[in-house]
Amino acid sequence: MSALPVIQVEPLVSTRGVRGPFDYARPDGVDVGSVVDVPFGRQRLRGVVTGLKASSEYRLRAPTHVHDVSLPPDLVRLALWMADDVVSTRARCLELLLPPEGVGERTRLWAAAVLPPPRPDGAPAPGPDDDVYAGIRLTDKQRAALGRLPGWTGEDLSTLRRLEGRGLVTIEERAHGRRPDHATVGALHGDGTSAPPLNPDQAHAVDRIAAVLAAGEELELRERQLLLHGVTGSGKTEVYLQAAQRTIAAGRTVLVLVPEIALTPQTVARFRRRLGETVAVLHSGLSKGERRDEWWRLRTGEARICVGPMSTVFAPVPDLGLVIVDEEHDSAYKHGEDPRYDARRVAAWRAREAGAVLLVGSATPRPESWAALRRIGLPRRADGGDMPAVRLIDVRGTRGALHPDVHRALTDARKAIVLLNRRGWATWMECADCGHTWECPNCDVSLVLHGGRDGGGGGILRCHHCGHQERPPTRCVACGSVSVGQHGLGTEQLADTLPGHVYRLDADVRDRAGVLEAFGAADHGILVGTQMIAKGHDFPDVTLGVVVDADATLRFPDFRSQERTFQMVAQLAGRAGRGAGAGGVPAQVLVQTRSPREPALLFAARHDAHGFLVEELERRRDLGYPPYATIVRVVCEHEDEARVEAAATALALRMPEDTLGPVPLFRRQARFRRQLMVRSPARALTVGATRAAVEAVVADPAHRGVTLVIEVDPR
Ligand code: ADP
Ligand code: ZN
Ligand code: ZN
Repeated sequence: MSALPVIQVEPLVSTRGVRGPFDYARPDGVDVGSVVDVPFGRQRLRGVVTGLKASSEYRLRAPTHVHDVSLPPDLVRLALWMADDVVSTRARCLELLLPPEGVGERTRLWAAAVLPPPRPDGAPAPGPDDDVYAGIRLTDKQRAALGRLPGWTGEDLSTLRRLEGRGLVTIEERAHGRRPDHATVGALHGDGTSAPPLNPDQAHAVDRIAAVLAAGEELELRERQLLLHGVTGSGKTEVYLQAAQRTIAAGRTVLVLVPEIALTPQTVARFRRRLGETVAVLHSGLSKGERRDEWWRLRTGEARICVGPMSTVFAPVPDLGLVIVDEEHDSAYKHGEDPRYDARRVAAWRAREAGAVLLVGSATPRPESWAALRRIGLPRRADGGDMPAVRLIDVRGTRGALHPDVHRALTDARKAIVLLNRRGWATWMECADCGHTWECPNCDVSLVLHGGRDGGGGGILRCHHCGHQERPPTRCVACGSVSVGQHGLGTEQLADTLPGHVYRLDADVRDRAGVLEAFGAADHGILVGTQMIAKGHDFPDVTLGVVVDADATLRFPDFRSQERTFQMVAQLAGRAGRGAGAGGVPAQVLVQTRSPREPALLFAARHDAHGFLVEELERRRDLGYPPYATIVRVVCEHEDEARVEAAATALALRMPEDTLGPVPLFRRQARFRRQLMVRSPARALTVGATRAAVEAVVADPAHRGVTLVIEVDPR
């Protein structure tokens, strides 16, 4: 610990107005990452030490309290970098990285050896296996106790206390006990405890990753950033597992990011089964105490791997060696609220800072990753099976939701998956006589009918943006007509019209893992749902996939609509025809569209990700879209339209010259909105200019209360 006497403290306050850091006197034991309470004017604030200084021009006050938790210094640097990178505040980013506090802890004694044990890869260091350890001859009992460290003291306590007396061991009280139970993090029992023999493609992939791991920082950064492009069912998880095992054997640690834990419990379970207790899990489904304990298991090095959703990228592991991002195309990796970070970008930052290897994997990589990363391919399915045949079905002229061919295929198939990206029963209601539609009083959007099975007056109208609910009309409020029609097919209604046993999965379903499990166990049936049904599940006996409306994604006004459409079809195809369970029945995917010549669909039908990405990247280059530019978007929001307009106009004057807007967005949650957008090849410059403009407007009392939502690389 350095002797610098001044600490710089960033107060954890949510407003953009307070900008630290502020100088305080440094108490004993306080270092970068410590959490302290400091006097601030007349208040007392919690803050994080972000730096040390030799002197200060101010008269220094001292912290009034030092908390038990602290952040490792690399995570402090991460928070500060992230605040700048996504135009958030340092306080919000630091807060996000801290473990839960204020949980009553159960403590036990934890011991660690003072000298490092021998590393498997390095030259022999003095360790407990040697007769003489640090100049002291050990008894058998002492050697055995040392060999079990670091760990809980247990029955070795008296032996360890003696070693502590000689300065060989440290013993401390530590929170203990709340291990997340196996049901929430993936069972440890069952098969899959040993590694299956790899097929040649997998073996080649693992060898290449191992070579990069071994060479480490001798390689240029670019050579340490890998993309595992494996078709669906190619066995990517097995490659991750073996790469992780090698990293741990080399004495380093691993982070494994998955898009959403409730939808991908299989990946977590496989890591736990293979690697056991060294795997920690961090996710929002755990209790505060469980999260806190898992956090400490990682921080102390007791756990060497952390598996979980996006926040796993903040796990406090030392000696990071490998960062894995599974299903890297998934938009769940973007945080929906401030700080609006992208876990994939943070993953790359952590790998770079630690000299670790970045390994992202997908069957449908993002153009960004395809262009920037070193590619490793798994071009075949692991079980040797064929990819399903994908047929585009032109539904121009078709009446009803399903083409007759699709209906027939669904009747014939034993197990099928049907994707429709609209939840509810009907997406809007309209008067047949005067055209009146039912809109949300708080948002400029149509209300969606849920539970409309019984027709006239049944169910409930709901706003998908603010949660407003009202009873569906029996007659028109504008003209009194009783012919009020339901329009726009949703998942509820589709589920109701399909033959056989139907399982529904969308955001309205509470127990999503339960639905997936039930469908997986069923002998026959149809799984209907939104995009989430196409995410990474492994059902070996599904032989049919259906996309009800590919045009909905395709027509979405966004430069990523082609990418999304390709991904949706390819990922759905990935759920069909996996494994021997299909019993030799050839699997197929039927895609309903009115644009059967659309390149994104044609490439998906040919399983040609390479072709799609090359063409898509050319288009992006021509149009100046990411990855050849960065997009920064600022949305101003307030209940008073004039005030939003004023703030947006003031902001526009300060933003870079080529900024578009302000343009109105639809009113949401009773708030008017104006959007400014800038697209530029100079990322750092544009982000910096946006930050300056935002801070100036926020500091102006005339615009107090107007919310500014900044998004760098919006999804
Ligand atoms: P991906 O993530 O690439 O879609 P998975 O990792 O889920 O693929 O693997 C698909 C299936 O193939 C799984 O059931 C897995 O157990 C199996 N598998 C993977 N590697 C092998 C292998 N070397 N030999 C046999 N089966 C394998
Ligand atoms: Zn009417
Ligand atoms: Zn609403």
